[in-house]
Amino acid sequence: MNNDSFAKSTELLKQTVPLMIKHKVPTTPTNYALWYTYSSQQNPQLNMALDSGIASIGHCTPTLCESIYQDHLASQTSNDVKQLKLSLTAMMQELSHSMADTLSDTNSFHNALETTFGRLEQVGKEGISLEETIGLVRELIRESQQMRQSTGLFKGQLDSAQQEIQTLRAALNKSQQQANEDALTKLYNRRAFDQDIQSYLDNQIPTSLILLDIDHFKNFNDEFGHLLGDQVLKMVAKRLTECCRDYAKAYRFGGEEFAVLLPHKSLPSARQQAETMRKSIEKISVLDKKSGQRINSVTASFGISASEPAEHSEKLIERADHFLSQAKQLGRNRVLPIS
Ligand code: GH3
Ligand code: MG
Ligand code: MG
Repeated sequence: MNNDSFAKSTELLKQTVPLMIKHKVPTTPTNYALWYTYSSQQNPQLNMALDSGIASIGHCTPTLCESIYQDHLASQTSNDVKQLKLSLTAMMQELSHSMADTLSDTNSFHNALETTFGRLEQVGKEGISLEETIGLVRELIRESQQMRQSTGLFKGQLDSAQQEIQTLRAALNKSQQQANEDALTKLYNRRAFDQDIQSYLDNQIPTSLILLDIDHFKNFNDEFGHLLGDQVLKMVAKRLTECCRDYAKAYRFGGEEFAVLLPHKSLPSARQQAETMRKSIEKISVLDKKSGQRINSVTASFGISASEPAEHSEKLIERADHFLSQAKQLGRNRVLPIS
């Protein structure tokens, strides 16, 4: 068909089909190739063999068609078919590479390839005519274009879905973070503290606890205003975070009270860290812009406890709180117990 114009091949088709019907020939690919060539009169020997065969038998039989096809067409097409099969295989491999790059896990792609290779097998086995094979090539190209289009579309959908997932994940992370974060100081909040202390004790991780409370904080608020009070809270929080070593985490326990959890730390080690925190808070210096006054008197009192085996979190908190009260009573700005 590649040498025929479209109009001519249509004309031939109009002659071929009625001929096949007239001779009651099944419309298989090989029969179609045979009768198409017959109508085209391009192979006079084929025409003569078919004419004389029908004349001698009295009608057309499948065996006659098959033998004439084998004698006059099969050998000629087999080389072409082999060549085409090679080109098709190469093309499909190329397609498979480029598509595998973009969409390696798609089952539909795998299925489409399987089907195509199955049909290529048929080309070799059934000795389909060159015309039929070219038709198959066109179909393959159309299919692969569709595949490419749908792959492109799918990839676009994947990309936007991925973006959407990223946005959602970021939003989820943020809301999770906000749920565990204190809005003013950006430290972990009481909720996070409750979760963490429970988790450490449930997992039998020896844990120390530091509880601290800003000394005479009410006075700051009364003298310099609530906003400056907030600023002091933020500065204390920053100092605490800076002093946290290893897996220690600082929390806003409530109001002007803070907590630090120190997993895998003994009481002496926690005491040392609390002392560092105390000294760091002592060094805080804030300028009150309204009065121009510098505040250098921020201090805090500390109570510490270390977990005992199978201890409940309430007990651990109670003990630290008890030492915190003692620190207040003994004059503030100190860490208890001493040893
Ligand atoms: P003590 O040394 O005994 O702890 O004295 P204190 O004044 O620190 O203790 P008290 O419990 O009498 O007062 C705590 C104050 O902390 C009262 C409250 O207004 C203030 N406070 C609690 N939360 C905040 C806050 O978020 N911002 C500000 N600015 N003040 C707060
Ligand atoms: Mg307090
Ligand atoms: Mg206080």
